[in-house]
Formats: sequence, structure tokens, C-alpha cells
Amino acid sequence: MPDVVVVGGGPVGLAAAIAVRMRGLEVLVAERDHPPIDKACGEGVMPEGVAALAALGVAASGYGRPFHGIRFCEADLSAEGRFPAGCGLGIRRPVLHQLLVDRAAEAGVAMRWGENVSSIGPGRVDLCGQAVACRWVVGADGLESQVRRWAGFRPPSRKRRRIGMRHHFRAKPWTDLVEVHWRNNCQAYVTPVSSDEICIAILARKPEGRLVQSIRQFPELCRRLDGAEPIGSVRGGTSVSGRMRSVVRNGFALVGDASGSVDAVTGEGLSLGFRQAIALSEAIEKGNLEQYQLVHRRLGRPPSLMAGLLLFVGDRTWLRRRVLRALGAQSEVFDLMLAVHIGALSLGAVRIGALARFAGRLLASAPLNNGNLA
Ligand SMILES: Cc1cc2nc3c(=O)[nH]c(=O)nc-3n(C[C@H](O)[C@H](O)[C@H](O)COP(=O)(O)OP(=O)(O)OC[C@H]3O[C@@H](n4cnc5c(N)ncnc54)[C@H](O)[C@@H]3O)c2cc1C
Repeated sequence: MPDVVVVGGGPVGLAAAIAVRMRGLEVLVAERDHPPIDKACGEGVMPEGVAALAALGVAASGYGRPFHGIRFCEADLSAEGRFPAGCGLGIRRPVLHQLLVDRAAEAGVAMRWGENVSSIGPGRVDLCGQAVACRWVVGADGLESQVRRWAGFRPPSRKRRRIGMRHHFRAKPWTDLVEVHWRNNCQAYVTPVSSDEICIAILARKPEGRLVQSIRQFPELCRRLDGAEPIGSVRGGTSVSGRMRSVVRNGFALVGDASGSVDAVTGEGLSLGFRQAIALSEAIEKGNLEQYQLVHRRLGRPPSLMAGLLLFVGDRTWLRRRVLRALGAQSEVFDLMLAVHIGALSLGAVRIGALARFAGRLLASAPLNNGNLA
């Protein structure tokens, strides 16, 4: 009898299983698909996600391509910020998934692939008609989590739903940053994933036609691609912002997208999920799921705030262009924003007065004398 059954063997379910196993508990992962699992994704793991992977013993840094910050672009405008320490990682989803599968196997996680969980009960998971008894059930079954429903959790507050499409191109990366190209209600995320491959994910509320047509909305990106050969197939997916009031109850816990999600504009889905996974394992070891509830809430705050802010600004052309212009002139403010976003600096460490001054000048697009807000 496993101590923990994790429903869903996506990246976060596997991370949770590894973390729990590393604490000496017996864990079983049930996944209806087969590895390595691919999925529509911008394929950027932020620095704190890379650090979480390292803590789990997943040697991801030897794969993919590191990135050192984010660049926002729109037509003639661009602004960039760099991470205060460490780097992010551009890595193809199946590569990341296989690394997690290998590490889970090495750690001694039992994995059942191609097996659908059809229902759950207190201390019980029904797996392909067979009841598996356990002490805790972890729902890591993604955005449309059934565990969430079966266990009686209140559904997440859904803020907005966007459609994403992802494609790879054979092209030499032209930067060590992830680029976000902005248009009205639509962005293209460009992540280098190897020395000659880039991943492009386009997210919009109403995508226009196929990816190739969508890319035409970004002429500067098309110029960069310069007829680069597309590789593999396009994948589509849904990105949703939604928070949950509670993610634990009666021996059930939710993690990753199943526990509420942040819009892909934050680039945080995976990193947040990996950190939740580690926090959950600690709470399970102590037999105190309430502790996980508190950490989950704290971890989710900065990306939720950033998602709201970015999408609000992104939807308003005049504001977006002003923000881009001001950030372009004050890259240290962008650096600071990134530091808060990835949790390297707490919001409390940023002086409110200085922030308010910056906001005022930003709206006026006036140059700043002193961008040192920390
Ligand atoms: C277009 C797009 C771009 C994105 N870009 C980024 C990015 O650049 N960086 C980033 O960090 N995040 C990004 N995200 C978000 C990221 O993809 C998700 O946050 C991440 O996949 C969540 O992982 P997960 O393991 O929680 O869920 P999932 O990856 O959805 O895995 C859930 C798993 O559960 C399995 N499952 C479901 N039900 C059952 C069942 N009943 N029985 C057995 N198995 C079951 C599914 O088959 C699936 O494998 C992006 C999302 C989109 C849509």
C-alpha cells in the first residue's frame, strides 16, 4: 500500500512524487498517457523552477538552453530585464518530462502509465477498475482536474481563458532572453530551446486562424525567423488564470494546474508547480496539510498579481506602449519587477513611495533620475 497516490503524471505530478519519495514515503503515480508527454507550452522554466528541479535531483541544466531574463517587444519599442541571479531554462516538454520520469524511477516512485483514474474516495483511488488504498491522494491532473471535483473542492475562480498554440522552428537563437512580442489581446513568446531550435507560443483570447497566420501579426518576429523551417507539429492548449480558496481537505491535496493556475504570460506554471510540489511533500511528511495550504497561497500571490497586471496593461494599447517605453528607458525597474516576480525580492522590500513615483513618471513617460527602488 503506497502512502501517497498522485493522480496525473505530468511534470508537476512527477515532481510531487519525487519530492514525497525523497522523504522516504512510498508513492504511486497514475497517468492515463504514456511518457514522454508533450503539451502546448512556451517551454520556459523560470530560475526558481530550475532551482526546484535541482533540489529534486533533476539534472535539467545539462539540457535545453539557459536564458537570463525577459525582453518585451512591440514594433519599434523594446525593454528588457535580467534575473538577479541564476538563469531560466528553455527546454522542450518531452525532454523535461523524460528527465522527470527517469529521476522518479531512480528515486523509487512506482509509475502506472496508460492507466486512467476513474474515481477516488477517502484513502482510495480506483485505477482501471482496481481500488488502490493509500493515506493521501494528490490531484495533479491538470486544469480540468477531476480529483478536484470528486474530492468536493470549490472550483477555482476563473478569471480569463486564452487559447495558445505552440510551434518549433529550426533557427539559431538571436538572444539569451525569452522574448514576449505584444499586440492587442495577443502575445508571441519566443524561447530558445537548443542551439538551433526555438519554441514559439502564441496566446490570444480569440486566435486568428492557424499559427502561421498568427505569426504574421508580428512582422519583426517574422523578419527574425527569415523563412526558418518549422519542425514537428503545432500543439494547442488553454491557459487560464484561476485561484482556489482551499487546496487541501480530508487527506486530499491539489498541486500544479489542478490547484489553480496562472496565465502563461507569467511563464510561471511549471516553476510554481515544482515549488508547490516540494512544499506539499514537506507538509505530508509532517502530516500537516494545512501547512501546505498556507505556503500554496503565499507562492501563488506574486504570479497572480503579475498576470493580472500584465494582461491589464497588455489589453490597452496606449498604456502598453507607455509602459514599454518607460521600462525601455529604465531597465533597472524591469530587473526589479523580475526579481519580485520570481520571488528573489519580496514586494515588501520595494519602497511604496518609490514605486508610486515610478508609476507616476511611467504614465507621463518621463525619464527617471533614480530607478533604484529596492
Ligand atoms: C500555450 C501555453 C504556454 C505555456 N507556457 C508556459 C511556459 O513557458 N512556462 C511555464 O512554466 N508554464 C507554461 N504554461 C503552463 C504549463 O504548461 C502548466 O502550468 C503545466 O503543464 C502544469 O503541469 P501539471 O503537471 O500541473 O498539469 P498537466 O501538464 O496538465 O498534467 C496533468 C496530467 O494529468 C493526467 N491526467 C488527467 N486526468 C487523469 C486521470 N483521471 N487519470 C490519470 N491521469 C490523468 C493528464 O494526462 C496529464 O498528463 C503554458 C501553458 C500554455 C497553455
